[in-house]
Amino acid sequence: MLSMKNYDVIVVGGGPGGSMAAKIAAEKGLKAIFFERGRKSGEKNSSGCGLGPRMWRDFPDMMKRLTPDLAPSMRAGAVARNYFINKDDVVAGMVMARPTESVKYEPAKKFITMNVYRSDFDPWIANLAIEAGAEQITSTLILDVIKEDGKVVGVQADGGEKYKAPIIIGADGVISMVAQKSGLRHKWHLDQVTLVPQYDFYVPKENIDKIMGEESLAVWWGSTFPAAYQVFFNEGMHIGLGNWLDWWGKNPLYYLNRVVNLPYFQRIIKLLEAKPREVQAHLLPWMGYPENTYTDNVMLIGDAGGFPCPLEAEGIYPAMVTGKLAAEVAAKAISEGDTSKAVLKLYEEKWKESSVGIEFEAGPELQSIWSKLPFEPKTMEWFVPMMMEILGGIYDWSEPHAVRVRNIVEHLRGYLPKATPFIMQEVIPLVSAIFKDDFEQFTNLFDLIQNMFPTKKGGK
Ligand SMILES: Cc1cc2nc3c(=O)[nH]c(=O)nc-3n(C[C@H](O)[C@H](O)[C@H](O)COP(=O)(O)OP(=O)(O)OC[C@H]3O[C@@H](n4cnc5c(N)ncnc54)[C@H](O)[C@@H]3O)c2cc1C
Repeated sequence: MLSMKNYDVIVVGGGPGGSMAAKIAAEKGLKAIFFERGRKSGEKNSSGCGLGPRMWRDFPDMMKRLTPDLAPSMRAGAVARNYFINKDDVVAGMVMARPTESVKYEPAKKFITMNVYRSDFDPWIANLAIEAGAEQITSTLILDVIKEDGKVVGVQADGGEKYKAPIIIGADGVISMVAQKSGLRHKWHLDQVTLVPQYDFYVPKENIDKIMGEESLAVWWGSTFPAAYQVFFNEGMHIGLGNWLDWWGKNPLYYLNRVVNLPYFQRIIKLLEAKPREVQAHLLPWMGYPENTYTDNVMLIGDAGGFPCPLEAEGIYPAMVTGKLAAEVAAKAISEGDTSKAVLKLYEEKWKESSVGIEFEAGPELQSIWSKLPFEPKTMEWFVPMMMEILGGIYDWSEPHAVRVRNIVEHLRGYLPKATPFIMQEVIPLVSAIFKDDFEQFTNLFDLIQNMFPTKKGGK
């Protein structure tokens, strides 16, 4: 018979969240073990990602150890290209943006994201946990939790081995067996989780350097597909898009192929000599607010807890922050000899106070505007030409400029029947959630917008 092994903390999942939790738990002197179903961390994840600069701000000692010799795919996304595509699948305009003057700290002033393949990043962070003293077991799927008196007290692996601990951290990603078996979540609702298909391309590094340079990020804001992201790594590129599970009218690859088949996109991949390498698809929680993140002896972190950012679903940083907080709360609870939910409530208090929690202050509104604008081609169909009228209309020699301005303003009035309800339903609730008590200054926003347009009488 297989014996029961005892630990202080069991972490299910060896992604960024699980590795961070195991690392901090070990640093706190706890006997920690973390399990990964892949042969190594990163093997089961969609292949690449952009790391947000808050990681360097909040975990400086750790992040300065992430160097190109350990993670050769690292490439700074210093500048983002934004392509605006109209309903005829033509690039109607492009805006390039680098971190702006109001960005407050390094390295956020230098890059928007640091792009890296998960096959470089996940093993790197798992090794830091091992170095700190945590034990990692790979190629092992945790199948179930062990319960006593209705409370989770351990886990069971696919080989039948049993492991016990006063604290179990669910870092097992979007499907999270721990969330389901502990009773914290039965199932995601269709509007809480997205499906994200993406293509990975091989691209020679010298071509990326020569053609893209610092512009290693792009968003394709479409009118016939949900907004698509493009991320460059050294020797590779992703193009992907996603939407909530209740949205897809057609096969998700139909929409992704629309992006790839854009003549402008084709031009870029030909120039880059990019070669398709892999088709990938992954689920990603994307919700207005995380629910039920702890119970007796159990805490959920990262995707398992629904922590990706409600606007753009940045998920690595939230996984690492919640992993750290859960491990710290575990250490405190174990030292006090009480791991009940009354004590683990501290975990919820801590993540709410953190940068991750602050992100959710306007979570439902951010999620809503994202679903109704960039992820809703029907809105983008009028939004793209309206925006291009504002951004690009004046660069035009078809009439004297005063006539052009009058034409543009007159044309923009035509968008009011569509833009006004959108502003009322999406923009005003968002601004009000963000500015809260200071919202008074925006209460006349609607009047202000309407008054921006001269009346027929005032115009020529
Ligand atoms: C296509 C795509 C692109 C993305 N791009 C970005 C990006 O650019 N930047 C960003 O910040 N975020 C991005 N995200 C989100 C980000 O990937 C996740 O939010 C992040 O990986 C969450 O980390 P985690 O540790 O919570 O979970 P995961 O990374 O999912 O790790 C969970 C780990 O647990 C293992 N596991 C699961 N179940 C078990 C089990 N029962 N037993 C043992 N092991 C188990 C898995 O194999 C996995 O390694 C993207 C997501 C997708 C789908």
